[in-house]
This record gives sequence, C-alpha cells and structure tokens, in this order.
Amino acid sequence: MTDDLTRLTVKEAHRLLRLGSVSAADMVTAHVERIERLDPHVKAYLRFTPELWEKQAAEADRLIHEGESRPLLGIPIAIKDVLCVRGVETTAGSQILKGFRPPYTATAVQRLFDAGALMLGVTNCDEFAMGSSTENSSYFPTRNPWDLERVPGGSSGGSAAAVAAGEAMIALGTDTGGSIRQPAALCGVVGMKPTYGRVSRYGLIAFASSLDQVGPFARSVDDAAVVLSLMSGFDPLDATSSERPGMEVLNNYGAGVKGMRLGVPREYYDVKGIEPGVKAAIDAALAVLRMQGAETVDVSLPHTDYGLAAYYIIAPAECSSNLARFDGVRYGLSEVDAPNITEQYLETRRKGFGGEVLRRVMLGTYALSSGYYDAYYLKAQKVRTLIKRDFDEAFKKCDAIVSATSPTVAFPLGAKTQDPLSMYLCDVLTLGGNLAGLPGISVPCGTSDGLPVGLQVLAPQWGENVALRVARAYEEASQVTAQVADVV
Ligand code: GLN
Repeated sequence: MTDDLTRLTVKEAHRLLRLGSVSAADMVTAHVERIERLDPHVKAYLRFTPELWEKQAAEADRLIHEGESRPLLGIPIAIKDVLCVRGVETTAGSQILKGFRPPYTATAVQRLFDAGALMLGVTNCDEFAMGSSTENSSYFPTRNPWDLERVPGGSSGGSAAAVAAGEAMIALGTDTGGSIRQPAALCGVVGMKPTYGRVSRYGLIAFASSLDQVGPFARSVDDAAVVLSLMSGFDPLDATSSERPGMEVLNNYGAGVKGMRLGVPREYYDVKGIEPGVKAAIDAALAVLRMQGAETVDVSLPHTDYGLAAYYIIAPAECSSNLARFDGVRYGLSEVDAPNITEQYLETRRKGFGGEVLRRVMLGTYALSSGYYDAYYLKAQKVRTLIKRDFDEAFKKCDAIVSATSPTVAFPLGAKTQDPLSMYLCDVLTLGGNLAGLPGISVPCGTSDGLPVGLQVLAPQWGENVALRVARAYEEASQVTAQVADVV
C-alpha cells in the first residue's frame, strides 16, 4: 500500500489527500521507505531534509483538516543542489560550497512551499550544473533507475532519477543547455524548461546567467504544467523576470493538436549520431500526432551546426565571471592556512573546483580576454542572434517544433568521461532552445533497446502553453506515460 503512494501523479495524490484517505504524513512515510530501499542503488539524493518535511507535513495535514485546498498540499518534492533553501546545505555539487547554508530560499522553491509542497531532500547534479551525465558531481555519480550501469543524464540527473524511481513526485532542475530535458528523456519522465525570464532565478547558484532557467520534472504533462504555473511570474528579486502572469502557461493547453502545424527541422531529424532506435521512436510519435490531426511540416534551422560551438563559448564565458565570487572568503571552503590572500584564493579554488569546472573557467577567461574577445565571445554572440533568427523563421511555418530530445538513450557510466567533446554533443538538440530563450518540454515516447526515449517540443517565446498542448496531446493519444522504475 505505501509503495502505491510513490507511483501517483500529483493529480491523483491531491485527490486522495483532499478526500482524507491518506495524510501528508503517510505520503512522507511512503517516500522515505522507498528512498531507504532504493536510493542506496540509485543515489539520486545528496542529503535529506527531515527538519523540513516534518514541519511541512504537520502543517499540510492541519490545513487539509481545515478544508484548505492548495495545489501541492502534501506533495513530496526534491530540489536540485543548485537552488538555495534557507538553512539547508546547498553546494552546487561542488566541494567549494561544502557546508554552505544559504540565508534565503530561491523564489521558485518558496512558491512551491507556499503551495503546500513538502521537501524530501537535495538531489545530486554535475558540479555547478556543468555536464550531461551527473558524473561531474564531486560526490558520486547518480545511476539511471532503468539500468544502474547507465547514467541518468545531466546535469539535473539526481532530480530526474528521483522522479523516475518513485523517490519524489516532483523535482526541480535547471536547464542551461538541456539539463532538464536531456535527463528527463534518459530517465523516462517529463521535464520542462520555461521561456527565459518566466521563472525567477533568485536563489539559483548561477552557471550562465543568460541561459539558466529553473523548471520541473514530473510523471505527467499535467503535473509539469501545474508546477510550472505555480513557480512562474514576476519576482522583483530577479531583474530578468518577466511580468507576464504565470497562469498563462495553462491557457488552452488541453485543446489537442488538431489543425496544428508541427515543424520537423531536418538538421535535428538527421542529426549526426542519432541512434536508429531513437529515430524510430520519434517517427512513431510523429505518426501519433498526425493521427490526432496535426500536420507535420519540414523546417530548417540552418545554423544548428554552429550552436554547439557558440554555446561552449558563451556558457564558459559567463561561468568564468559568475564563479569568480568563490574566493574562499565569502562562502564554503576556505584555505585559511595560506601565506597570503592571493594564495588563499588560489588554493581554495584549486582544491574546491573539479576538472570540468576548471576547464570551463579557463576557456571562458580566455574567450573574454582582450584580443580574443572579438574573435570568440563577440562572434559567438553573433551566432546566437543567427540561431534565434533561424527559430523565428521556422515559427513562421509552424506552431511548434518537434524532435528527439537526445540523439541517444542513456549511455554506460564512464563511456564519455574521458572525451569532453562527446559529452558536449549530448545537448546538440536542446541548447538551441536556450540560446534562443525558448520554452521546451521532453515527454517519454517509448523505448529503444529497453531504454527510455524523449520527444522534445519547442515553442515560440512565451508559448509554454503551446509546448504543453502538443506534449499532452501526445501523452494522451499514445498512452505512453512515465512509469516508475522498480530498480531492484
Ligand atoms: N550539458 C550542458 C553543459 O554542460 C548543459 C548543462 C545545463 O543545462 N546545465 O553545459
């Protein structure tokens, strides 16, 4: 019985909680039991927060008893280790932030707490969200619940794995180049990246500020939609936060795809390295959407090939600047025994940062240095504009763009750790959405070799409702829904 509670969607759980057939405390117990049994294998979590869930569950039960009906009352959630939660150790998967307890809570998280959610714990991720497999975590790699010898994707791999393994009903992740959509695809759950500016970045430990967005992992499109709507909306604490109302992401999203035009970019469809099994699953998904009355049209995103190169200049450039604040004085690790302040600074960073972070800081610093700025950074920004224009052109011919989320299914642990370039290629289908600031969702669309495949839907700026509408119509018609993995 208690295990059944860990398989529910938010919608189902909400109903049971409101009817009084289960309590928020029961929800916590069921999840904690499952975590105790499975997480030693999956390793989705870095730390647990009983001090929060005990209080939050008691409060939720009290409110339910009083007849309150907040949308997430009693719903257990997990939070990626890059989102600050007041008093809870938050480390961005890094040693440099070990012991850091933020004095404030990220707006996106606070809004879910206000809606009644219970926090189970902090999930593992690649250090400072740099990576595609969660193997860059400075703690340990997370494993894919569908095959423990494989990666869950990244950087939000812990959050994706937690939702896939029934160790949380909802989890938050962040997506700078694909880190919500790609792990969602590899773990067989729903993951959504909103339009840049839709969700506040206040309290998010920055990687690349012009690309980062916070978004949900869920086991149904409905759940992702509701959670996203709750997190969205203006926040005076984030200067890039939009004034558009959060609830608009739900506009008409249940209307189906009849009469919609879905663009299939040839550069994405035939992307280098796409596995035949992934392509077959996407073909089948397109057929389902056509059967529902959508029309598929050929479109082109001609600068796709340059996207990866531009991303790997812009993201490291921004990261080298954002990570300058980790100086061993203000937060976390501090090598105070150093002979002088410069040595303290250097020693702290040498010890605190892992290999991938150092690589990006060096790349970024180089690209921004005088004499190279124009050749690399400025050039990359120009390419970014061209990519944005590609999407603008494509959206003249279609309402949404559909493709695979990842060219491959989950790969074995260690398969790409020695070859950063092959790791970077994991995001070739997702990072265009970040460079252009667009909303995108990945929904499960069957399997290849027994491993989950994700269908990506990208929509025009502020068109979350359009992406959700396509994803939901597909989910409903295909009956392919996110399953909970039994792991062991
Ligand atoms: N894998 C990409 C990178 O390493 C994207 C990461 C992300 O979206 N946070 O930069």
